[in-house]
Amino acid sequence: MDFLSLIMNTANLNLARKWRSRNFDQIVGQELSIRMLKNSLYLNQYFPVYLFSGQRGCGKTTTARVFAAAINCEQLDGFRKKPKISPVPCLECSSCKAMLGGKHPDFIEIDAASHTGVDNVRQIIDASQLLPLMGNKKIYLIDEAHMLSKAAFNAFLKILEEPPSSVLFILATTDPQKIIDTVKSRCFRLFFKSVAHTPLLGHLKNVCNTEKIAYEDAALDLIIKETEGSVRDALNVVEQVRFARGRVTKDAVLHVLGHIDDERMLKFFEILIQGSSKELLQFLQMIRFDLFSAEFMWNKLIEILRAALWVSNGVTPEWFSHYVDALKKVLHGCSVSRLNSILMLFYSYENLFLKTTAKHSLLEMIFLQVTQKNAGTSNDSGSSPASCNAASPVIQEENSLDDDIDEDVQEEEIEEEGSSSQWKAFLSSLDALKEPLLSSIFKNGTAVTFDKERAALAVTFAKQFAFFQETLNEMKKLWFPLLQNSFAQNVTFDPQFTGQQKKIEPKIEKITKPDVKISASNSTTQKCFSRPTKRTQKFQSYTTLVAGKTIDITDSDVWKKATMIARYFSGTFSEINEA
Ligand SMILES: [Zn+2]
Repeated sequence: MDFLSLIMNTANLNLARKWRSRNFDQIVGQELSIRMLKNSLYLNQYFPVYLFSGQRGCGKTTTARVFAAAINCEQLDGFRKKPKISPVPCLECSSCKAMLGGKHPDFIEIDAASHTGVDNVRQIIDASQLLPLMGNKKIYLIDEAHMLSKAAFNAFLKILEEPPSSVLFILATTDPQKIIDTVKSRCFRLFFKSVAHTPLLGHLKNVCNTEKIAYEDAALDLIIKETEGSVRDALNVVEQVRFARGRVTKDAVLHVLGHIDDERMLKFFEILIQGSSKELLQFLQMIRFDLFSAEFMWNKLIEILRAALWVSNGVTPEWFSHYVDALKKVLHGCSVSRLNSILMLFYSYENLFLKTTAKHSLLEMIFLQVTQKNAGTSNDSGSSPASCNAASPVIQEENSLDDDIDEDVQEEEIEEEGSSSQWKAFLSSLDALKEPLLSSIFKNGTAVTFDKERAALAVTFAKQFAFFQETLNEMKKLWFPLLQNSFAQNVTFDPQFTGQQKKIEPKIEKITKPDVKISASNSTTQKCFSRPTKRTQKFQSYTTLVAGKTIDITDSDVWKKATMIARYFSGTFSEINEA
């Protein structure tokens, strides 16, 4: 059975599996490694342990399987005599067929990610003493080998010191740094590079033509760029696009990847640095922001901001050269210090962004912080002097709430003025309580609506603030009377931790307000913010600006809470008191 008829019989498999290489010639873009393995086969000289390292999807496990098939192929002697005429694996002998069917008794594949323990390794060691049943060697492929525990590695070392001649190990890993040196030094190492553009493009075209998938060259180019040289990822995207749209076009690829094309990203950037919060939200609604990948938006915005900084300094950024003229127009009147401060704002949220599951709401909140500054930008060139200071790792935002509401509100209907001032009054009365944590939580409410008829006040917080709901309940006695004073005696308070902007009903009034304020330095936080071990107990307590309280970090519950607070109000821990 030839290769083509074989894959025709496996039409139910997905593309990446269906097109998985079965012999050396089909492996894309790893010429050097393949040549070394073929030499090994030709000379009949094997190392007891091979270490295949390289990024995901570049062919490590596939190559390991092909190599294993070749070692046990019945045609191996023929290959040694006439390597060009008689390739291995032949794919036809009983050993090769057993390999193709995944049933070879001498090929054992172990996923170290799910078999990390020392017992698993001991089982391997015991079994490896037995002679191979069908082929020349018993071959163990340990995938994701870096996931093995230290004890497992140490047990493994024993067999590596005196490996039985009938056994061969192949370790495959994306992270060779995590494999202990004593193991690494006993391995024959092969590096698998990410597959280069040209061979991968040729491969994708071949797959599309054979599978009768219509495609645009530009779409395949984009897929290769986005999947960073991973054959498997690239084929998976081709397949997803084919199922979603039939034809593999650039637009379809963008859609499947959750990406926005550069033109629309640029339009978005223009609104971000020049437009109002309202325009921004309308744009997000128009493009259906939730459908796009938040990571992509984040990376793309950083890329554009970086390009903007280059352009502002009179240098053309190569990676953005197609859009330099458009970018210059977008940037008119936007100072370098303002670009800097926006970039810094994004970076100040980087850790939270990586951790949170509500990435879209967080992004939305950051975008709004940027646009809320826009109205004031025209006259003060966009930032406080402190934000231009490169030594300061954090944006210095003005702390006064009043500064931030300003012009933006002018765009809203005048009748909203009422509840806006009520909310402001409530926030400032909160400040008088000298409970900064409480103030900080309330100041993070993103959308506030007050239904006068029902006296119902709704405030939306980002999803990740749900943690503070308990705090709000605990402290209700303190803040609720103030809320009654500012709104109505029968006011009901409905916090929503959905992180989404609420739709405004015609008769309901709305105010917008800015979000997190960062006032302290992040570097201080990072320096101080590590919990001492129980053994040393050098530090006993904290003082925080936000909570305004000393927190005893030897209490693990309190510590947990303090960590949460620090996560959402970064840069707030200011001092450690030594015991
Ligand atoms: Zn064979």
